[in-house]
Amino acid sequence: MKIGVFGGTFNPIHYGHLRAAEEIRGRFGLDRIFFIPSGNPPLKRKNLAGADHRLAMVRMAVRDNPYFEALDIECVRPGKSYTVNTLEQLLRSYPDADLYFMLGIDVFLDIPNWREPEKILAMANFIILSRPGKNFSDLFQSPYLDIKKTQLSNLDRGEIALYTTVLQSGKKALLTGVTPIGISSTEIRKCVKRGVSIKYLLPEEIKSYIISKGLYRANRKELNRKGCVTGGQCL
Ligand code: ATP
Repeated sequence: MKIGVFGGTFNPIHYGHLRAAEEIRGRFGLDRIFFIPSGNPPLKRKNLAGADHRLAMVRMAVRDNPYFEALDIECVRPGKSYTVNTLEQLLRSYPDADLYFMLGIDVFLDIPNWREPEKILAMANFIILSRPGKNFSDLFQSPYLDIKKTQLSNLDRGEIALYTTVLQSGKKALLTGVTPIGISSTEIRKCVKRGVSIKYLLPEEIKSYIISKGLYRANRKELNRKGCVTGGQCL
């Protein structure tokens, strides 16, 4: 069985995540994709909604896709959410599965700073996704990939759609382009804070959830400083 593993803070989940996952599932014939919100990210994040809210939003977002599933394993596990522990847990539950960890270019470049990076690279294959504003060429600096600059430039120009290489661990790294969708959770949070519409950036049900729970709104101090009159409610 081929299992996609899509980790992130999902603060909140948006169409950039969902469309990328849909394309990757079809392209690589994944049997399912687990969306795993980071319950307690190791690095402090600004304006992080509670894990329960982020998990609830991911659950809503994946509900109508039979191949997608939200997993709460990082939300219920005590302590910081380390990827190495998550992959270990998944391999214990699915010993015969081939794991495909999906992540953006910038996130792959950050792996050397994660806990036990070599172990992580030995437990899963990696699908490295394009994202507006990020270049495959930046992966030339990665200590884990042995790829010529020209191949990375070809990916950036869209001349090739997929480049496959083998990691030292024997697992594969698959570099591939997905439809460029320039949406980020950061921008969504900023819009909410400013009282600007977030419609069409994420599923309508999640937009309503964010408003009804008052997530990401500016606090009183921020409202006074910006002279904002909407209180982040015009969404
Ligand atoms: P933030 O703006 O808060 O950093 P984000 O939008 O980058 O959040 P994450 O939850 O951090 O979302 O992302 C989870 C994974 O999805 C990461 O590997 C990230 O690179 C990837 N990703 C996020 N947005 C997109 C997008 N628009 N297109 C392709 N990949 C994306």
